[in-house]
Amino acid sequence: MSPANQLSGVAGETTVIWDFDRTIMDDDSDRWVVVEMGLNPLFNQLRQTLPWNSLMDRMMEELHSQGRTIEDITNCLNRVELNPQIISAIRAAHDHRCDLKVLSDANQFFIETILKNHGIYECFSEIITNPTFVDKEGRLRIFPSHGSNVQPHGCNLCPPNLCKGFVMNRIQDPTSQDTKKRVIIYIGDGGGDFCPTLKLRDVDHVMPRKDFPLHHLISTSSIPIKPNVHEWSNGEELNKILIHLIDLVLPNAETVDR
Ligand SMILES: [Mg+2]
Ligand SMILES: [Zn+2]
Repeated sequence: MSPANQLSGVAGETTVIWDFDRTIMDDDSDRWVVVEMGLNPLFNQLRQTLPWNSLMDRMMEELHSQGRTIEDITNCLNRVELNPQIISAIRAAHDHRCDLKVLSDANQFFIETILKNHGIYECFSEIITNPTFVDKEGRLRIFPSHGSNVQPHGCNLCPPNLCKGFVMNRIQDPTSQDTKKRVIIYIGDGGGDFCPTLKLRDVDHVMPRKDFPLHHLISTSSIPIKPNVHEWSNGEELNKILIHLIDLVLPNAETVDR
């Protein structure tokens, strides 16, 4: 075994990648805004005709045309509650000097607003999602993560706007020495989390939310899954498992020969 293949106990070498909707947040942030801001009828009317990403951008246009402001959307997002156990898991992982990233098909504005409101935005080194900006008329615009000018990612598991496996390839950059020693813990629930799960190695860990699509896909997959699988049902379990994994990877790491 080359030293590069051994786990090392140096802090900061564990990366914890978090999905957002139905993982960090128990609900779905897009659903929350649509329902709370009374957009259901239009949403349902357009659901079949627009890709999800464009649909949410269209919903923001609707809010703007109704005279609803960015502040109104912020106030709506500030009513989202997060499970205290999940907040505590995020803080603990950060305190253990893990590198935390969000990888989500929601959008930058929703995620940042919610994380900031709960005082945990600073715990993350990166938020990889569909980008947003507020235009000069005060309308929130939502764009595809991979951009409209980028070549299609060619992945048939993922929607065109975001392939999380494509992003995972970048995080796992094989030319970086650092990557070989880095252990990844991936936490998610959705079908979109299956593609990045397939990129994980046998030293990595995936934490699927029990009885959600990722869990089903892992359980029934004909493609072998390399990472260790740890399912969770609620914030308390997520917290317990994550802290256990971090403890396992960090202090005992020198003795683990892979
Ligand atoms: Mg999710
Ligand atoms: Zn993909």
